[in-house]
Amino acid sequence: MTLDLTKQYALEMDKNDPLARFKDEFYIKEGTTYMIGNSLGLLSKRAEKALLTSLKDWKEHGINGWMDGEEPWFYLSEKLGKKSAPLVGAKPEEVVVTGSITTNIHQLIATFFKPQGKKRTIVADALTFPSDIYALKSQLKLRGLDPANHLVQVESADGQTLDEDTIIEAMTDEVALMLLPSVLYRSGQVLDIKRLTEEAHKQGIVIGFDLAHSVGAMPHELHEWGVDFAMWCNYKYLNNGPGGVGGLFVHERHFGTEPGLAGWFGSDKEKQFDMEHHFSPAENAGAYQIGTPHILSAAPLLGSLEIFHEAGIESVREKSLALTNYLMALVDEKLEGLGFTIENPREDHRRGGHVCLKHDQAASISKALKARGILPDFRAPNVIRLTPAALYISYLDVWKTVDALYTIVKEEEFKQFSNKRNVIA
Ligand SMILES: *Cc1c(COP(=O)(O)O)cnc(C)c1O
Repeated sequence: MTLDLTKQYALEMDKNDPLARFKDEFYIKEGTTYMIGNSLGLLSKRAEKALLTSLKDWKEHGINGWMDGEEPWFYLSEKLGKKSAPLVGAKPEEVVVTGSITTNIHQLIATFFKPQGKKRTIVADALTFPSDIYALKSQLKLRGLDPANHLVQVESADGQTLDEDTIIEAMTDEVALMLLPSVLYRSGQVLDIKRLTEEAHKQGIVIGFDLAHSVGAMPHELHEWGVDFAMWCNYKYLNNGPGGVGGLFVHERHFGTEPGLAGWFGSDKEKQFDMEHHFSPAENAGAYQIGTPHILSAAPLLGSLEIFHEAGIESVREKSLALTNYLMALVDEKLEGLGFTIENPREDHRRGGHVCLKHDQAASISKALKARGILPDFRAPNVIRLTPAALYISYLDVWKTVDALYTIVKEEEFKQFSNKRNVIA
């Protein structure tokens, strides 16, 4: 497919974009282009309003906000779970909004990793996010198992992507559980969740997915695919704010499995305030909550999810694919010979919500982009991730980003910046 790479085309596409109207719902700093929504999404007016409602409930009701506020806190985690369920293809009771990715990994591994006989190994991959691996290793150590022997990380042949066949080969009779990303955080590769889940189950392996880079970017069918468990954050594509409360999914066939890490907010809601020392867990995903929910970091999600429901996740995915496709075409054409390579898979069904560019001068180029008001996502040592988030990035924004990259490299603007990462990158 050849795309028209003119600025005029970008303007035309924006005019015909059915999601264009959502851009106005977000706070976008004047003169900036926010290409880093895969790291921290922007604040929307509706998310802000939802947070203000919870603050008002606190102001007006004090402790009675738990039951009597406009948005009663006692049921908020379950309500948000129910509203998140369509985004991951789950039944309403299979999702709850709680914890962070890392704490939810701890909870779900503590719950579903049951080493028995020969089956004592966990499989993950060599490209995943460090925190996932730290959590897996510490879970193994807590069971007295040495990660050096009991954690297998499937290697990548090219350093950027994973081969599903290689992952399937790792599903030996020693494996009890697997945790994989839905979308790789660097290269943006989408893994075939359905196929991997089927294969794992043939071997009697419990399988979970970290949806950090797919939730809010593309649809899922977790229930239908039979995935055992999943976790995600809500602060990336779902725009729930810094440190915003995450989400978890447990397939209904596991309801009743005792939580590995029990706490009173995992109780059956009718019984929680009986204050019994005997724990009666909820009979749904709510059982895997631990302590008092972080209301003020969960509330914005209510407003944010409303936008996703209005826009429709299928349309969000469609526009996201069109934008990343356009971005790649511009890179191929306009940045040819300037040292960039595209590291994400090109095919639609294997590509997540961002484009992964490699360049020797990635750090200094990222700083030069920032100086021009375009926010990229640099990952050491040489990767620039660009995320055209469908709800607030336009075709013109994408065009401008590549235009800026051209000038920065062609005119050696990047040389004004050091090629080292900052503390947060
Ligand atoms: C963003 C991200 C995390 C961060 O985990 P938190 O516990 O929310 O800080 C973990 N894993 C992956 C794959 C991520 O992309």
